[in-house]
Amino acid sequence: MRTGAGPPADPPGSLFQQGRVRYLSAPMNPRVAESPAEPETAAPPAWSTARAEELYRLHLWGKGYVGISARGTVEVYPDKDPARSIDLHEIVLGLEERGFEPPLLIRLSDLLDHRLRELRSAFDDAIRQVEYSGQYTCVYPIKVNQQRHICEEIRDLGSELGFGLEAGSIPELLAVLALTSGHEQMPIICNGFKDHEFIEMVILATKLGRRIVPVVERFHELELIMRYARRYQVRPRIGMRVKLSAKGVGRWEHSAGVRGKFGLSVSEILRGIEKLREHDLLDCLELLHCHIGSQVFDIRSIKNAVSELAHVYCGMVKQGAPMGYLDLGGGMGVDYDGSQSASESSINYTVQEYATDVVYRVQNVCDDAGVPHPHLITESGRALTAYSSVLVCDVLGARRMDARIDLDTIQALVRSEGDEVPQPLLDLLDVYERVSSGGLVELYHDATHAREEAMTLFGLGYTSLPVRAATEELFWAIGRILLDRAGEDLPDELSDLPALLGDIYFCNFSIFQSVPDSWGIDQLFPIVPLHRLDEEPTRRGVLADLTCDSDGKIDRFVDPYEEKRTLELHELREVPSNGNGLPDTEPYYLGIFLVGAYQEILGDLHNLLGDTHAVHVRLDGDGEPVIEEIVEGDTVEEVLRYVQYDPPQMKQALRKDVERAIRDRRLTVQEGRQFLSAYDAGLEGYTYLETDDE
Ligand code: PLP
Repeated sequence: MRTGAGPPADPPGSLFQQGRVRYLSAPMNPRVAESPAEPETAAPPAWSTARAEELYRLHLWGKGYVGISARGTVEVYPDKDPARSIDLHEIVLGLEERGFEPPLLIRLSDLLDHRLRELRSAFDDAIRQVEYSGQYTCVYPIKVNQQRHICEEIRDLGSELGFGLEAGSIPELLAVLALTSGHEQMPIICNGFKDHEFIEMVILATKLGRRIVPVVERFHELELIMRYARRYQVRPRIGMRVKLSAKGVGRWEHSAGVRGKFGLSVSEILRGIEKLREHDLLDCLELLHCHIGSQVFDIRSIKNAVSELAHVYCGMVKQGAPMGYLDLGGGMGVDYDGSQSASESSINYTVQEYATDVVYRVQNVCDDAGVPHPHLITESGRALTAYSSVLVCDVLGARRMDARIDLDTIQALVRSEGDEVPQPLLDLLDVYERVSSGGLVELYHDATHAREEAMTLFGLGYTSLPVRAATEELFWAIGRILLDRAGEDLPDELSDLPALLGDIYFCNFSIFQSVPDSWGIDQLFPIVPLHRLDEEPTRRGVLADLTCDSDGKIDRFVDPYEEKRTLELHELREVPSNGNGLPDTEPYYLGIFLVGAYQEILGDLHNLLGDTHAVHVRLDGDGEPVIEEIVEGDTVEEVLRYVQYDPPQMKQALRKDVERAIRDRRLTVQEGRQFLSAYDAGLEGYTYLETDDE
């Protein structure tokens, strides 16, 4: 826990206090930083940052936004121009200097801008190329990341680009209405189930002057819209969501399909058109919507859905509905593993391909039906925000499964057991003797079998603790040797070994709070050390978080070519103890990338580990990174209040306990004071582990 009362204050009037910080006095950009002189006689380096780039597949999933500096640190190029870079390691160091320690979320505002502009220009290009006569708008669904700063950034640039916002619930609607104050021309789309309160708010917002379209998900909502339109004398804009028979693919494929939870069947749409006609409101029906799921990885599903949707649209026009807007929902995915394939952590298309396919398909269907081209809308969320946030955590320590064994001690143990040596121990010793020459699979089977038998005997109370320790040591050592012998050609039978023998790196963050999709749906996120990439990583390991949950670990990593169960990591460097007598290691920071979509809002308070600090970074006019905003993470007090604790009452209870302990001479007055001030500081502190600066 944080021991101080927060980050040190900046001098009044400093840049930091004005909200724009140059947080390091030294230049941070490799263009301007002095590079160390190369020794003339140096042999060609065995390791290089180029190899690191390939190892961590930055060139594949990074899509031009991420690279490695000459200093071996990870850089972000927010507009894909390597001449304009943000060194993430320097950002972390600068924040630490200011008292903000990892875990930290770095939000890259320029990168978010770039994603918005890229989407705009992809559709503009496609429209121009095929001479489509409609226009395009992206309506950002705030559910993907509702953080005010993110939504305001999207709102501000979105205004310029002709984008809008989407709300899927009452709280989101209220947020969107406030966000669009002063931006009345921004389109607002309302999806999700709606009750009378929701619809009344939409109708009144229409009167207020907002361009707001409620999308009918259930027939009853249409009746509510008509009722409130009559009551307030408004001609609302109306949309309908259709249940397509075309399904998406992947985890959210059930968002669509005729048995999907959302939307109207085609016969309900026809019934709705008649009802609107009866009530002289048919001219209000403007928009047809669908959403076939998120992270749609196969472009063929998108093409099928778009064709079906466009046919329904044309059919509605032929029934006399004026229409004008075709909304394809979200679904544009992100290539998390860089494989550019039709698989759950990837997508087999680019933004441009997506845009071109959508425009071309709608155009074809409309031209065949003789229907004017509609204004196209997408509700892309993930594809806009995923790239713009990086979670940084520090490594607290590591545990190794070593190959080293103390054979003398094991043999002494065997001798001491006399005639009663447990057979599995003898079997493991036998495998160990043969391990350098025998068949890999056979040796592995023998070792696994002996280990299982050893565990059974121990569980039944037939073997001692030293025997169990010896069998474990032998098994790990055998496994390590087999793995080394197998090299690149690991037989399938041994495929569990790398994860079994990998180191465990203990990291200061909560998977449940910061990357919940890694736990909940096995989503892969690229993970890369933020520094030391000019050094070869010599260890392989899995990552364990701070929670006391065995699920709180990451043991699958991105690799386009194979299932990767351990990550290449650097040896932690020991440093002299900081005075408390405990060994310590040099800071080692890992970046978890592409966490800008859904992760922040889906995160939970498991173990009461709260929101991390979040920092907004932008490049200034000179191309230098500046910190625009730091949003402090939750304090312990805040998360406790969230679960209905009352910190003043808690303090009072502890004060009474301390008084009793002093009276009974279990604590001195001085110790009592120390306890209470540590308790106070704990309540005010960060929920994550902080550097021990004793
Ligand atoms: N629109 C609707 C109706 C949704 O339900 C969602 C998310 O599930 C989205 C848009 C955003 O989808 P994505 O983030 O895949 O673009």
